[in-house]
Amino acid sequence: MFEIGIQLKKERGPENVFDYSIGNPEVEPPEEVIAALRQVVAENRKGSHGYMPNAGYPAVRERIAGVLKARTGVAFGVDDILMTTGAAGAINIILKSLLDPGDEVIVLNPYFPEYRFYIENHGGRVVMVETGDRFELVPERIAAAITPRTRALILNSPNNPTGVVYAESDLRALNRVLPDPVLVICDEPYRPLTFDGAKTPEAVAIFDRAVVAWSWSKAMAVSGERIGYLAIPPHVGGAPLRGACTIANRILGYINATAIWQWVVGMTPEATVDVAAYQSKRNLLCDALQAMGYDAPRPQGGFYVFPRTPVADDVAFVGMLRDEGILAVPGVGFGRAGYMRLSLTIAREAIERSLPGFQRAMRGAGSRARA
Ligand code: PLP
Repeated sequence: MFEIGIQLKKERGPENVFDYSIGNPEVEPPEEVIAALRQVVAENRKGSHGYMPNAGYPAVRERIAGVLKARTGVAFGVDDILMTTGAAGAINIILKSLLDPGDEVIVLNPYFPEYRFYIENHGGRVVMVETGDRFELVPERIAAAITPRTRALILNSPNNPTGVVYAESDLRALNRVLPDPVLVICDEPYRPLTFDGAKTPEAVAIFDRAVVAWSWSKAMAVSGERIGYLAIPPHVGGAPLRGACTIANRILGYINATAIWQWVVGMTPEATVDVAAYQSKRNLLCDALQAMGYDAPRPQGGFYVFPRTPVADDVAFVGMLRDEGILAVPGVGFGRAGYMRLSLTIAREAIERSLPGFQRAMRGAGSRARA
């Protein structure tokens, strides 16, 4: 998509290409984050750029544990937090620690495509389970997929690509059907990005066995800095799991999260971009698409709208949009053909200018269906 975008921009001029394909925040990080970064650099404390314990700086982990404890009610302490290179690093170190070759990890379809690599990186097997008609959790389907080899389930809410925030009642129902030792990996890079005042339920406080894989990439708009953490509740895994994750944080080659960004997020752990801009773009895009006849439900959170494509062949329809200068990602890339993902990180005025192209593609789909 990236390459196609460059080519299209050359052919049509950059102002005539509408790139909905990548979830890279277009807003700048909150001012307090940049102020903290300036302070870390200006203070230049002795040793602040050197090696650290493999789990990260204790002072920073202590601060994160305090924030998490206050928010979730789970009694996290310093030993329960590992600073990682983003949520990707956090998921990789927990999987490296948990999996023996052939162990199974449940992934809910549609899904973030990198999960397959994370799981297979560590000898695991992906077991795909379908979500419901509106991409909600279906606990009975998940229960039916569990075998003696199931070690974990990855749960992403708000969800990429569907924008669904899983309901607390569904999380509770899911907890009731998950046997020991299945661990829920709560992948939460979009947690604070919810719309209409909704809150993402505290999954880590609901499940008997869960960990949090967090990153500030989206919440703080610092995706290029790759800073996140893994949080393991005190009652989960004991010293062996913490020891395994700590050594994995070193030996996988990520070699901890960067020192400077650990210091920064330790100073501003709860700084979050203003979600109002994303919400107003969501309203603009979904309302306009619905008026044209698209089945484009409003996402409850996250960065993405996941409409049904007006023809069953999503790759063909994405091609029709491309002819209009619009770049979308076919749903088949997320395991769900017949849909497409549109990222709300595009500028508002680009959404406005792209709407006639969506309209023409819809008409084209109609004549294609009649032909
Ligand atoms: N999980 C999901 C669902 C994501 O969308 C992403 C990034 O886009 C990640 C994990 C990885 O996050 P990070 O890039 O901060 O490691």
